[in-house]
Amino acid sequence: MDAATYSGRYSDGQTAATRPVQVTLAATAVEIALVDKSEPERWTYTKLRAAAPVSWRDNEVLLRSIEAPGATLFVPDPGFASAVLKHSPRLSVSAHRWRYAAPGLAITAAFILGITAIYALQLHPAQAVANVIPHALREAIGRKAMAELTGDHRECTSAEGTKALDTLVGELSKASESGKLFSVRVVNWDLVNAFAVPGEQIVISGGLIEAAKSADEVAGVLAHEMGHGIELHPEAGIIRSMGVSALIQLLAGGNTGSLTNVGALLLELRYSREAEHEADTHALRILKNADISPKPFGDFFKRLMKIESGGSSNSDSSSKAQSSADTAIFSTHPPTPERAKMATDAATYPGKPSLSDMDWRALKAICE
Ligand SMILES: [Zn+2]
Repeated sequence: MDAATYSGRYSDGQTAATRPVQVTLAATAVEIALVDKSEPERWTYTKLRAAAPVSWRDNEVLLRSIEAPGATLFVPDPGFASAVLKHSPRLSVSAHRWRYAAPGLAITAAFILGITAIYALQLHPAQAVANVIPHALREAIGRKAMAELTGDHRECTSAEGTKALDTLVGELSKASESGKLFSVRVVNWDLVNAFAVPGEQIVISGGLIEAAKSADEVAGVLAHEMGHGIELHPEAGIIRSMGVSALIQLLAGGNTGSLTNVGALLLELRYSREAEHEADTHALRILKNADISPKPFGDFFKRLMKIESGGSSNSDSSSKAQSSADTAIFSTHPPTPERAKMATDAATYPGKPSLSDMDWRALKAICE
């Protein structure tokens, strides 16, 4: 009997990286095919644990196994939930409480001690706390935020467009030299918007791709968001807003109630001038490593600033109202003339196009 294969993302819980995997539901176990291993990793059905009770209609499932402490498997495939439930009906029951901190209470306790110490030392609390959150928890928070943010909107996933995007994201992730593989989703919003979500995830709007004149402009925005991700700015922003006590509660009890609005919270974050500078510094470094000119990034930035200030040459009253909404990206990432200048000044090399013409056309049409 041929078992269906699903695409998922796997994290071993040891490093920040997640990687794409093929998942097969065999007779007694979930088989996870890792590129660098000849034998698939096998998670026995009876040892599986889910983040939340799995329902037949779930579009995505996050699994762990007590056979692989710390590791997580995320399968964003609508058919997967019902298929895995046939093998492991217990996943539909909430009897197994998910512990975010992988090896359980010891890590949670160490984590709480760690942040108490940080507070006692009066360091940069939110940022320092972000740095000690276990990776599995950052990813879980990110996924929750992502689900809330994209819930009411269609995700843009045309096959060719997704392929082009994956090419670009893969190249930029590699050029980031951070050991992190970013995951980028395009959401069908008209606004020009982009933001980093905890756990090396990024959301960009269809409106941003629409407004961009080249793949290099999109590459610049993605590199900037990767910069925020590398510095754990979204994580720190969430901690700053919701407070450490809520986070401890979440870790200790697995109650995500206090995180209900984590998606909305991310939308309202406004990064500091220093954070923007850090993200831009990473962006320019990433673009340089990938041999992509930063000039289009600077041009895009200046063009959006012009729209925001109402300086669009063809603006009438109706398009002006639309313009202010269009540049939602600047509410999270405050623009300054220095930021635009920084990109322009860095344009000291020609670079090569970040995508072929064909791939860029495919990316442009990702929401169609
Ligand atoms: Zn930013």
